[in-house]
Amino acid sequence: MNSHYLSTSRSNPQFYTFSQRFEAGASCDSFCSLDTQWKERAQQAAWLDFWQREGHEFLEQKWHEQHPEYKQEIELATPEERTAWQELWEQHACDQSAHFWHIFSCVFENYQRDLANGLQGVEQTLDDLSDNLSHLDIQQSEDSAVSAESGGGDEQYLTANDEPELLDEEQQLRLLGLPTSFGVRVARKRRKPRQRPASESESDNDTNLIIMPKDEDNDEPLHGVQSRVIKKKKKKKPQKNSKIPEFMRDDILLRKYWFRRFSLFSRFDQGILLDRESWFSVTPEKIAKQTARRLAGDVIVDAFCGCGGNAIQFANTCSRVIAIDIDANKLAMAKQNALIYGVAHKIEFVHADFLQFASSTRLRPDVVFLSPPWGGPDYLKQATFDIEQHLLPLGASQLMQHARRLTENIGFFLPRNSNIQQVIALSHLGEQCEVEHNYLDTRLVAITAYYGGSLVKSSRAEHHED
Ligand code: ADP
Repeated sequence: MNSHYLSTSRSNPQFYTFSQRFEAGASCDSFCSLDTQWKERAQQAAWLDFWQREGHEFLEQKWHEQHPEYKQEIELATPEERTAWQELWEQHACDQSAHFWHIFSCVFENYQRDLANGLQGVEQTLDDLSDNLSHLDIQQSEDSAVSAESGGGDEQYLTANDEPELLDEEQQLRLLGLPTSFGVRVARKRRKPRQRPASESESDNDTNLIIMPKDEDNDEPLHGVQSRVIKKKKKKKPQKNSKIPEFMRDDILLRKYWFRRFSLFSRFDQGILLDRESWFSVTPEKIAKQTARRLAGDVIVDAFCGCGGNAIQFANTCSRVIAIDIDANKLAMAKQNALIYGVAHKIEFVHADFLQFASSTRLRPDVVFLSPPWGGPDYLKQATFDIEQHLLPLGASQLMQHARRLTENIGFFLPRNSNIQQVIALSHLGEQCEVEHNYLDTRLVAITAYYGGSLVKSSRAEHHED
C-alpha cells in the first residue's frame, strides 16, 4: 500500500481522525486484512465526521478568499444577480467538497497502512524511514504549493490548504496513484456570476488581477486566451523569521516547530509561553480539541499537563479540570496560557508528581487523561514504539494502574508509532478500547486510546441503540 504525503500547513492544517474499537484478548487478524466492508464503513463515518465538523468553515473561508467582493456586492444585488451568486456558491460547494474528499481519501489510505503497521508491529519500510527523517527537515519550503522535499527523494509534496487552482490536478492524481482521465475535477478558475455586466467584473477594484494588453507582435494565443493575458499579482510574503525568539533561531529542530506555532496554539500571538521542551511535546490545538470533545464531562484530571495545551481545551468541555505537573515552571506557563484562552478560572493547577497524587488523593474524577513524556522527538527513531519500555516515568501498564485508582475512564495520548497490540492489551480482558489515529493534513501525528465503559461505546450497546 502506498503512502501519500502532502506538506503540512504549519498554521492551519486540516485535521482528520479515524477510530477503531478493539477487544483485549480477541484476535486482530480481521483488522490486519482490512476487508472492504470495514473500509467502506470506516471511511464513510470518518468523512461525515470531518465534513460536518469542518466543512462549512472551509467553504466559507475559501468563498471569501475567492470572492472578496461578495460581501459588498450581495447587498446591492438584483434578484437575478442573487440567483447567479447562489448558483456560483453551489458550484463552489461542489468543487470544494470534491477537493477535500480527494485529500481525505489519500489520508484514509495512509490510515489503513498506519493501522496495519501498528497492529503487526512490522518493520518500517525505507520509505517510512525517509519520511520520518524528512519530517524533521525544516529546510522544506514553507508555502510552496508543490515542492520537492530536500532529502526526500523524488516524492513531491502538495499542500492541502492551497487554492485548488494552484494545484495541478493531473499531477496530484498521478501522485496519489489514481486514474488521471476521470478523476475528481477541482475548481481551477475564479468565476464571476454570469449575470454581472462585463464592465463591473473587470473593474479596477479587483486588486488581485492585472489585465495585461495582448502582445501585438505575437498572434499566437497564449494558453488559449485570445485577447488578453491575466496575470496574478504576487502577494507579498510575510517575513518568516521576523518574530522568532533569539534562542530558537539557531536551533534547527526548534525552528521547524516555530513555523507551526499557530497550529499548536491559534492564539499564539497573544502571549503564549512555551519552554524548549514544551515546543516538542505540546498537543496541537486541533487534536487537543478533538480529545476534549471525546472526554467531555464533569471532572477531569490532566495528569501531565505541561504548558496546558490539553487542559485549556478540557476547560471548554468539562466542568472542572485538575491539571497536574511535576514542574512548577510548566504549571506557571500553563496558567498564563489558560488566561489567554479565558479558561484559567476552570482549571485547578496542582504542582505534584502524578504517581504520588494518584496514590494519596481522595478525588474521584470522571476521567483521567494521560499524556506522559515520550522522551522527546527521539521516539520517532524507533520503527515501533514500545509503550511498556520507553514511556516515562513508568511503562504504560503501570501508568494505567495508577490512573485506575481514580477512575476506569482513561484517555491515553501516545506516539504515532506505538505498538497497537500493546495499546489494546491495556484494556481489561474482554473489554473494548477505542484507538483513534489523529492526522494533521496527511501526516499521522499521534494516537489517542480510550478505555472504560463511559468512554468506549461497546458494539453491543450500539446494536441495541440501532
Ligand atoms: P515529551 O517527552 O513528550 O516531550 P515532556 O517531557 O514535555 O514530554 O513531559 C510532559 C510533561 O509531563 C512535562 O511537563 C513534565 O514536567 C511532566 N511530568 C513528567 N513526569 C511527571 C510526573 N511524574 N508527574 C507529573 N508530571 C510529570
